[in-house]
Order: sequence, then structure tokens, then C-alpha cells
Amino acid sequence: MKLLLDSTRCQGYGLCQEPAPELVELDEWGYANVIAVVVPAGTEDAARACAESCPNSALRVEG
Ligand code: SF4
Repeated sequence: MKLLLDSTRCQGYGLCQEPAPELVELDEWGYANVIAVVVPAGTEDAARACAESCPNSALRVEG
């Protein structure tokens, strides 16, 4: 599974980090950066929750 960010859609709400701090970090303005594009085993549910938490559909899981 991959966690993919379309940074052109990220508006810096910062909501995506809470369900998956091990997968996403925020920069100083609150914009997301995916730490683990290839989702580590055992964190698939966190990756899905992370993608679903984004109000702007900037994150998605694939695979
Ligand atoms: S919740 Fe969405 S818009 Fe907000 S920082 Fe995360 S990816 Fe960007």
C-alpha cells in the first residue's frame, strides 16, 4: 500500500497527521509531507484514516 499526497490540493489544515503521525509530518505552516509513501505493515488502517481525514482529498491510499 502507498499513501500519496497531491500537494497542489493541500491547504494546510493539518488534520491528516493526528490519525497517523508515523506516516505524515507537517511543516511549519501546517502543510503535509508524507514520511512513509510505502505504508509499513501494520499501519494500513492509520493510512486509510489519514487519507479520509483530509477535507480536501489531498491524500489517498493506493494498493
Ligand atoms: S488534512 Fe489535507 S489539506 Fe490538511 S494538511 Fe493534511 S493533506 Fe493537507
